[in-house]
Amino acid sequence: MLFFIIFLLGLAVGSFLNVCVYRLPAGESVVSPPSHCRACGVRLGPADLIPVLSYILRRGRCRSCGAPFSARYAVVELATGALFAWCFFVFGLGPSLIKALVLTSFLVVITLIDFDHQLIYDKVLVWLAGAGVAINLSFAYAPLWGSAVTLPVGLLDMLLGAFVGGGLLLAIAVATRGGMGGGDVKFAAALGLWFGWQHTLLALFLSFLAGGLGGGVLLLLRIRKRKDLIPFGPFIAAGAFVALLYGPDIVAWYAGRFLGR
Ligand SMILES: [Zn+2]
Repeated sequence: MLFFIIFLLGLAVGSFLNVCVYRLPAGESVVSPPSHCRACGVRLGPADLIPVLSYILRRGRCRSCGAPFSARYAVVELATGALFAWCFFVFGLGPSLIKALVLTSFLVVITLIDFDHQLIYDKVLVWLAGAGVAINLSFAYAPLWGSAVTLPVGLLDMLLGAFVGGGLLLAIAVATRGGMGGGDVKFAAALGLWFGWQHTLLALFLSFLAGGLGGGVLLLLRIRKRKDLIPFGPFIAAGAFVALLYGPDIVAWYAGRFLGR
């Protein structure tokens, strides 16, 4: 039951993330005006705000003018619901779940905007960094729920994480003469604030792995040509998501296997 409620929460949040992805690059407010049909301008009803529902009820069409809504909205919503449910499956109910859901929401927005525009926006990164610092500080220094947090990240570790994450990608950006964008460098630094240095390294290692595999698949399927720019942000986001959910397990496995701890 709780699993289903978290999934529904993911659908609702996914609906809002769709709005962010569409409006932030256009420089529009994400809260006003309320969502409207892009063809006829009619304000969307409650059912239309959850595209998955509107797809079931109205076959993905505007109730007023019948213009079709893009299926992508419903797909993004379903994916967010599934990612939220996955987080709940790993963390259960508690402060770690809040942290996971907030970070996951940011990762979805950054992935989609980078995919659409090959850009990671500073305003999104500022919110990402601020939210990470606020959540980690409240977890690390709040005696009430601090003990329930899976992996507390203190202030020094946050700063080290930002330094290590941003520094590593900056070094790659310089070495490859711009093969890595400035947005990726800042994205890695902001994630460092969320993860601390150890799991930031893990997240980036996983994203290089994903980028190598994913880039190869895109080239093989000829979706992208060799000279095309493949945005790296979505791979960083994927690495961060895996590190978020399984970081402690992977680090423990690695330490036991190779460091003899
Ligand atoms: Zn319409």
